[in-house]
Amino acid sequence: MDIIIGKSAGFCYGVKRAVESAENDIKNATEKIYCLGEIVHNKEVVNGLKDKGINFIEDISEADSTTIIRAHGVTKQVYKTAEEKGISLKDYTCPNVIKIHRIAEEYASKDYYILLFGSKKHPENIGTISYCGDKYIVIENEDDVFNAIDVINNWNIKKVLVISQTTFKLEDFIVYSEILQNELSKDTEIIIKNTICKATEIRQLETEEISKIVDVMIIIGGKNSSNTKKLYDIAKENCEKTFCIETKEEILDTNFSIFEKIGIMAGASTPQKSIDEVCELLKQKDMSF
Ligand code: SF4
Repeated sequence: MDIIIGKSAGFCYGVKRAVESAENDIKNATEKIYCLGEIVHNKEVVNGLKDKGINFIEDISEADSTTIIRAHGVTKQVYKTAEEKGISLKDYTCPNVIKIHRIAEEYASKDYYILLFGSKKHPENIGTISYCGDKYIVIENEDDVFNAIDVINNWNIKKVLVISQTTFKLEDFIVYSEILQNELSKDTEIIIKNTICKATEIRQLETEEISKIVDVMIIIGGKNSSNTKKLYDIAKENCEKTFCIETKEEILDTNFSIFEKIGIMAGASTPQKSIDEVCELLKQKDMSF
């Protein structure tokens, strides 16, 4: 059995920075430390930090001392509330997300209508939306693209900015941008900024490459991790037998010894430990058959 592990599998720079800094903060803490939302979409990592003493909360109103802001970033309102409450923030918003906030804020101030590709409910986009002013549409799929085109053409909007969630699928970004360029009125100015982060792009391309040459593909990542879900979709397009798992427990009973080549990729919030455990399990299975 050949196991091919993606070089880009596991924690990205932004997540690594947030998790390591949070671990450091709790080690040196002299007061209660909160974290606003799950620091990453991964139960094992979150539970590990809970065990070390970090208190996870859903709303800044629940905090009364130092609060960690995760890599996804937060809304403008969170900073305001923290300031009003006198709460100090450990802000680990990924620089790539901060860049999107700045772009959105700049173009909103110049009266551009903002089209944001990505999930309507994802915390990163909820944060970004707060920088978009009141003229924006979040685009999740092709139907949303055509709805946005109707709105822009019918309302005679003349200035449009296109940005995206950092983990948006690159292929969809290209296709949707082309549709917008072809279908929006010719006198509408469209500024397209590819804000998908490089780490995501590289991971998606590598997933595509590996999934084309293996018999089975295993994607490891949190069930509510949007970047993991995208990796699964990409792999599934090329490799019919694609599994998406959070931990090795989910494949304990699967017989992988019948496959010659197995590909492994993991989302940006998957710790190395989870990847190592899956590889170890596969090696054991190979030897036991
Ligand atoms: S996926 Fe990209 S934008 Fe998101 S935390 Fe990681 S490096 Fe930052």
